[in-house]
Amino acid sequence: MTSTTIAWLRNDLRLTDNPALSAAMRAGTRVIALYVHETAHGVRPPGAAARWWLHHSLQTLERDLAALGVELTVRTGEPGGIIADLVRDNTVAAVFWNRRYAPGEVLVDAAIKTWLINQGLATQSFGANVLIEPWDIATGQGQPYSVFTPFWKSLKQRAIALPLQQPSARLPRQPQPVDTDYREPCWAAKLGGHWYFGEVAAQRTLADFLDHRVTNYPQGRDFPDSDASSGLSPHLRFGEISPRQIWHTATMAAQMAPEKAAAIDKFLSELAWRDFSYHQLYHRGDIATEPMQPKYGNMAWREADDEFAAWTSGMTGLPIIDAGMRELWETGSMHNRVRILVASLLTKNLLIDWRRGEQWFWDCLVDSDRASNPASWQWVAGSGLDAAPYFRIFNPVTQGSRFDAAGGYVRRWVPELAALPDQWLHNPWEAPQQALAAAGVRLGVTYPAPIVDLKASRVRALEAAAALQRND
Ligand code: FAD
Repeated sequence: MTSTTIAWLRNDLRLTDNPALSAAMRAGTRVIALYVHETAHGVRPPGAAARWWLHHSLQTLERDLAALGVELTVRTGEPGGIIADLVRDNTVAAVFWNRRYAPGEVLVDAAIKTWLINQGLATQSFGANVLIEPWDIATGQGQPYSVFTPFWKSLKQRAIALPLQQPSARLPRQPQPVDTDYREPCWAAKLGGHWYFGEVAAQRTLADFLDHRVTNYPQGRDFPDSDASSGLSPHLRFGEISPRQIWHTATMAAQMAPEKAAAIDKFLSELAWRDFSYHQLYHRGDIATEPMQPKYGNMAWREADDEFAAWTSGMTGLPIIDAGMRELWETGSMHNRVRILVASLLTKNLLIDWRRGEQWFWDCLVDSDRASNPASWQWVAGSGLDAAPYFRIFNPVTQGSRFDAAGGYVRRWVPELAALPDQWLHNPWEAPQQALAAAGVRLGVTYPAPIVDLKASRVRALEAAAALQRND
C-alpha cells in the first residue's frame, strides 16, 4: 500500500504559507488533508456564525486542494480517535499540523503527538498562525508581556518569518462532496450576501485594502459608516490568509509607496493586537472564563436577564448600541468602535458579566476568535491586564455624535429612527415631542425608551469598580 502523510488542518484553511501542508506535500507520499469538527474536551466548539463560515471555507478549500491533487477528509469527533482510525486504515508515515495556543488545545495536541511518537510515526508541528510564537517574545525580565505598547515595539524589531509558497500540484483529483456536519441556521441566507470565502477572496481583500483604502485607515477606522478597515478578520480567524502574509505584503506595499507607510504602520499595529491576544491566551490560562485580574472574580455582576435580552436583540433604546447589535445579527460582524461601545454598555452601565457578552459574540461573529474575542472583552470590561481603566465608561450618545455624526450608521441599522434630525438621532428620548412626531417616532411604541439611565448607571459602575479596588 502507498504510504500516506496526514496534514491536520485547523485554523489554517489555505494552501500558501501552510508549513504543515507543505511538509506533507514534500514527503512524496499520498497526502490526506484532514479537518476535524472537534468534540474533544477543552476545545471550544465554534459558534453558530463561525460554523456557517467554516462550512463555506471548507468547500472552497476542498476545491483548492483538489487542484493540487490532495483530498480533503472531514470528520466529526474526538481528533485523537479519528487520527488513530486513519493510521489504522492507511499506511500512515507522518502527521503534521500548525500550532494552536489555547490551553485545552495545547493539551489535546500534545497527547496526540505523544501517541504518534509511541506508534513510531513521524510528527511535527509548525508556527503558522501568529506573527511570532508566544514563547519567542518576552520582556527584559523574561516574562510574558502584559502591556501592548512594549509588546508592539519589541515585535517590530523582530524578523517576521517569510511566508511559504503554495506547494506544487500532484495528480489532479476530482472534488468529493464534503460532509461538514453542518446545518444551515435560519439566518444564514442573509449572512451570505455580505461575504466571500476562502484564500483567493482573502488575498483579494488584502490587495484591495492596500491599493485603495489603507491611506484612510488611521483617520477612518473609528467611523462605523466608513469602509476604512480591512475586513480581513474572518479570513484570519480561519487562516484563509496568514498574519505573516499580511505583514510582508503590507510592508512591501509601504516600501513601494512611502506615502502609505504611516497608515500601513498603524494597520500592522492593529494586526499586532491579534498576536498580543494570542500571547495572553497562551500565557494566562483560559481567558474566556477567568478574569486576567483575579479581583474581577469578586465583581458584583447583575443578572438582569431582561436587560441582557434587550442588548442582544438591539432594543436598548440607545441608537448606536442597537445599530451595532443589529449589524451583528444581520451580518455576523460589527465595526470595532461599536464593539467597544456595546461591550462597555453591557459590562459597565448594565453591570452584566463580560462572559455573557463574550459568549453572545462567540455565537454571532463570523470572526469569533479564541484569543481576540475574550481578550477584547476583558480589555473593555477592565479585567484584562492592559485594560481600559475602569473609570473609562463610553457614553453611547457622545460617542455616537462623534463617530456617526451624520447618522449614516444608525439610520441604516435602526430605520425606525431614520427621519429624526441628526441632532436627536443618538438621544431620541431628549427630543421634543414635535420632532419625534414629525419623524414618526413614538418612544416605547415604534422604538424603545432607553433601558438604562446613562448617568446613574455610570455612577453605579464606578462604585462597583471602586469597591473592587478597595478590597484588592
Ligand atoms: P482591521 O482594523 O482592518 O485590522 C486588521 C486585523 O487586525 C483584524 O482583521 C484583526 O485580525 C486584527 N485586529 C484589529 N484590531 C484588533 C483588536 N482590537 N484585537 C485583536 N485583533 C485585532 N477580532 C477578531 O478577530 N475576533 C473577535 O472575536 C473579536 N472580538 C472582539 C470583541 C470585542 C468586544 C472588541 C472590542 C473587539 C473584538 N475584536 C475581535 C477586534 C476587532 O474589533 C476586529 O478584529 C475588527 O473589527 C475586525 O475588522 P477588520 O478586519 O476590518 O480590522
